[in-house]
Amino acid sequence: MAAAVKAEGYGHGLVRVARALDADAFAVACIEEALALREAAGIDRRIVLLEGVFEADELALCARHALDVAIHHPEQLRMLELARLERPLRVWLKIDSGMHRLGLAPETAPAIFQRVRDCPAAHAEIGLMSHLARADERDCDYTRQQLQTFEAATAGLPGERSLANSAGILGWPRTHFDWVRPGIMLYGASPFVDSLAPDEDLRPAMSFHTRLIAIRRLRRGEPVGYGGTWLCPEDMDVGVAAVGYGDGYPRHAPSGTPVLVNGRAAALVGRVSMDMITLDLRQHPEARIGDPVLLWGEGLPVERIAQAAGAISYTLLCGVTARVRREVVPAPSIDG
Ligand SMILES: *Cc1c(COP(=O)(O)O)cnc(C)c1O
Repeated sequence: MAAAVKAEGYGHGLVRVARALDADAFAVACIEEALALREAAGIDRRIVLLEGVFEADELALCARHALDVAIHHPEQLRMLELARLERPLRVWLKIDSGMHRLGLAPETAPAIFQRVRDCPAAHAEIGLMSHLARADERDCDYTRQQLQTFEAATAGLPGERSLANSAGILGWPRTHFDWVRPGIMLYGASPFVDSLAPDEDLRPAMSFHTRLIAIRRLRRGEPVGYGGTWLCPEDMDVGVAAVGYGDGYPRHAPSGTPVLVNGRAAALVGRVSMDMITLDLRQHPEARIGDPVLLWGEGLPVERIAQAAGAISYTLLCGVTARVRREVVPAPSIDG
């Protein structure tokens, strides 16, 4: 299993996540992330550069730090063929089975495989991988086609194969092969368009919370926040919580987006500003300044906020900004 820890471990902290996971390998997007794991943190598991190197110079670093590289383009193969390295690199051929973003044309896979085999800079064991474009849709012919294309392109080649992301792991057993590459599911969010974490038996790793810093008694008809987009329908209490888009809370979350105040549902009202959001406290007469406000996490799946804000759980998790204090706490018990 190669755990995807790119983008700061989907916002959870690259090194923190890598230290917490017992993975056979870690998958990252660029050499900076790989070196942060290998050199700065001393992680000794395999580390895979999913997009390979961007420049020939990086190959020497990859050899020095024993990083696995993807080869997704003939140009990268040329870099490898020209390289003189202190030890051979583990190479993954990335085949385009239908994503049409990165990858070698499937029909070229056998010939390129042979060239890598002949290349002194490449380790004898060569991996074969591809990426699914639509596995998050439940019953999708495109995923079946990608599977077929990948199987045909790699038939008879001796390398270990890897196709499944989280959606492939949970929804498409035939995509598992030798190495799965979970990302979002490791962080406890659903990869599917139509389900929430609890539906997939996933529990969120992240709870994003803040506190009430003010409770205001406003009159019927008074507008709340920038643009005055929301008007109090009656005399009521509005709570102000200390979080905003400057922390990574989505700017486009509309009035009605759920939060939990003291563990109970409340609705966002008015626009999200940089440092604050405003909340309808009509159902929360007991609320006091300092009370906890959960933005997403245990009890409030991040997917619900994503749906409301026209986002996806990935962008919300990745988007929590550096000013938000990270605190590592023991996982809640499985039965509790
Ligand atoms: C990010 C990534 C993954 C993990 O995807 P999830 O949808 O988060 O599970 C797997 N493979 C590749 C190539 C990726 O870029």
